[in-house]
Amino acid sequence: MKNCLLCDNNPADKTGSHIVPHFLSKRIDTEPGQKGRDKELGFVITEDSTSSYFGRAVQPEKLEEIYGEVTDELISENKVKGIVDNYFCTDCEKNLGLIESEYSKTINGQSKIDVLYESTNKPFISFLFWASIIWRLSIEENSGFKLKPKDEKKLGRILKKYLNSDLSKINADPKDSDLNDIGYKILRAPNYSDKNSTWLHWSTNYERPYSLIIDEYLLFFYFKKSYLKGMVLDFYGSEKEKQLAELNTPFKGEIIYGISDLKYKEISDNITMFGVRKRMSSLGEKLDLLHQKLGGKGKEMYPALKNEILKRIANSNVKLGKKHTTENHIKIISETIMELKIT
Ligand SMILES: [Zn+2]
Repeated sequence: MKNCLLCDNNPADKTGSHIVPHFLSKRIDTEPGQKGRDKELGFVITEDSTSSYFGRAVQPEKLEEIYGEVTDELISENKVKGIVDNYFCTDCEKNLGLIESEYSKTINGQSKIDVLYESTNKPFISFLFWASIIWRLSIEENSGFKLKPKDEKKLGRILKKYLNSDLSKINADPKDSDLNDIGYKILRAPNYSDKNSTWLHWSTNYERPYSLIIDEYLLFFYFKKSYLKGMVLDFYGSEKEKQLAELNTPFKGEIIYGISDLKYKEISDNITMFGVRKRMSSLGEKLDLLHQKLGGKGKEMYPALKNEILKRIANSNVKLGKKHTTENHIKIISETIMELKIT
């Protein structure tokens, strides 16, 4: 067995580790109105396809609503994302769990909207909490999120040095150079997640700061304070609020800028639009390639045909879980080509 990715000391014997802590991931993934373990229901939206996954305890009726027929194949191919085996040892998993349960108490604490508020006055715990999430996303194979190697190493070093089984022993060392030029800003739409669906999503090319949306939180992680004055990288329309938020460091409690449900909804809609545009442009490129392979004239598929295919895919009257599968795309593409007889 390989060694734990955190301490590099004990064998990585822990199975079922959550990359995003379970108290948060269950708020993102869960079937609306259901909060238990194994109730995950999530969709992974990539350029080409929408795959989805579900926990063992999701009701069969709910699965039918999404997939149509529930087959053995569907069940056996299902894998809940964001849960990994043999990454950590039992001790490190416990230590991570300790800061998670400490931070989770802030969810039901005080919150405000359109102003700054303090979520916890305990220094360093909240810093380690958010740092541990982006570090875990970065080390997770195929998560799609990657810190620069130097940044990933730095967070790994900080977590290894400071995580402890005793909360009172977790104290930031002011002389530690790893802690002196690092921080994060955070926005939150308090309790938006209780009634609405939320995201786990990020901009793959943003590093100054790394920008993520995790449930009802927007996290901006800075590896240099000078990036605060850098180029404005708008993250789905949250720039104004990001400017108003304060930089949190390892040495003081956490200050959050509260945003309204309406603002979260606006950001969420921007993410959806981004996903749709990205998928359509990727599909368009594939259709151009197909056109070339079929020996068509020029580099691009005849626009009338291409638009008709894209329109039919967007309006395709199949269950949500099957709409953006390769099978459904191929079916629509071939039917449209046969029908219009233009290539
Ligand atoms: Zn360990």
